[in-house]
Amino acid sequence: MSRIAYVNGRYILHSDASVHIEDRGYQFADGVYEACQIQDGAIIDVRRHLDRLDRSLYELDMDSPMERGPLVAVLREVARRNRVRDGLLYLQVTRGVAPRDHAFPKDAVPSLVVTAKSINPAGAQGRFEKGVSVVTVADNRWDRVDIKTVGLLPNVLAKQKARAAGAYEAFFVDKDGFVTEGSSTNAWIVTKDGKLVTRPAEHGILRGITRTVVLDLAAAEGLAVEERPFTVEEAQTAKEVFITAASTILVPVVRIDDRTVANGEPGLTVARLRSRFQEFAERTPI
Ligand code: PMP
Repeated sequence: MSRIAYVNGRYILHSDASVHIEDRGYQFADGVYEACQIQDGAIIDVRRHLDRLDRSLYELDMDSPMERGPLVAVLREVARRNRVRDGLLYLQVTRGVAPRDHAFPKDAVPSLVVTAKSINPAGAQGRFEKGVSVVTVADNRWDRVDIKTVGLLPNVLAKQKARAAGAYEAFFVDKDGFVTEGSSTNAWIVTKDGKLVTRPAEHGILRGITRTVVLDLAAAEGLAVEERPFTVEEAQTAKEVFITAASTILVPVVRIDDRTVANGEPGLTVARLRSRFQEFAERTPI
């Protein structure tokens, strides 16, 4: 079956899909995106993802490409046309096509691209059962990483450093030695006395949708939560460490740089949170 992409009003073959060379996303990373999980034939937390998209657009003074209702219809249609039951929807909005000039163009029309791909749930299950390794890198990003822009070069370099070291993820570390977040995930620890700790969602991290759902879930589970920064050493000596993202939900971290976390096995808290996650997520059938 051929893959189909949505590009500016048209559903076309993924292999033929393209945007103009003067699209500002291509030239300036002047664009924003969202990635939503599709699980068992439903889009997960689409409302929250589109709320965050609206915020990203607002922060960059960028027009929305379409109203919420038609946009959800496009997302569902792309998932349907690609027959994705379990996978990922990707949506990107840029400021549009205009002659290259740094300042905003006067009449550019925002570009919208939506793609969907299937992901074999077995890969995520393997990571969940075994846990993953993480390396640490200096956080050298700008101070508005709360906006989900396509300007991801530091994240790309961090992830590549992880892959080169045989690890799954890289934790960004700020100049004071505190973990900010992963290159494409939010970072969490469980302290020895069972508290869940994650960095506050100010400008230093992306306010992950999965993070928000896990906070709701933790409250329902009666788990104590502290939104505060934690150091690399605190993570390495914690009871459990895990990461969250729409693409993987919750994944246990069992190694950080050269130190094993706890006994090197995924912990019980992350297993419990993962088993209940779907109860707290919103499902939009495709
Ligand atoms: N931080 C960064 C830098 C990310 O790219 C992502 C994934 N989009 C996340 C955190 C997790 O966010 P979410 O739970 O919304 O996928």
